[in-house]
Amino acid sequence: MVKYSSKINKIRTFALSLVFIGFVVMYGGIFFRNSPIVMTIFMILGLLFIIASTVVYFWIGMLSTKTVQVVCPGCGKHTKILGRVDICMYCNEPLTLDPALEGKEFDERYNKKQKETR
Ligand SMILES: [Zn+2]
Repeated sequence: MVKYSSKINKIRTFALSLVFIGFVVMYGGIFFRNSPIVMTIFMILGLLFIIASTVVYFWIGMLSTKTVQVVCPGCGKHTKILGRVDICMYCNEPLTLDPALEGKEFDERYNKKQKETR
């Protein structure tokens, strides 16, 4: 079974891994200290990853304004929903804003627009 997690949590993990990749790439540049050009390329690449993560963090901030705060029926905590269906940040309970989808099994495809379906 596929393990779902809250979208915001997913994006956060993604941003965090970008920072991590950035540092690894920059660290990798140290091994090429004999050729300043390669080292510079590595440093710039690493910096780009870190800039990208900053952009993603900014994006999370933008998305957060679009989320709907609800009280999770599973654990009673306040959680945020993004899109038509999402997962509780605390207990991974599937949540929906669309009454038509209520009670249905969680499917991330519900978030896609009609024209995107093949
Ligand atoms: Zn919950």
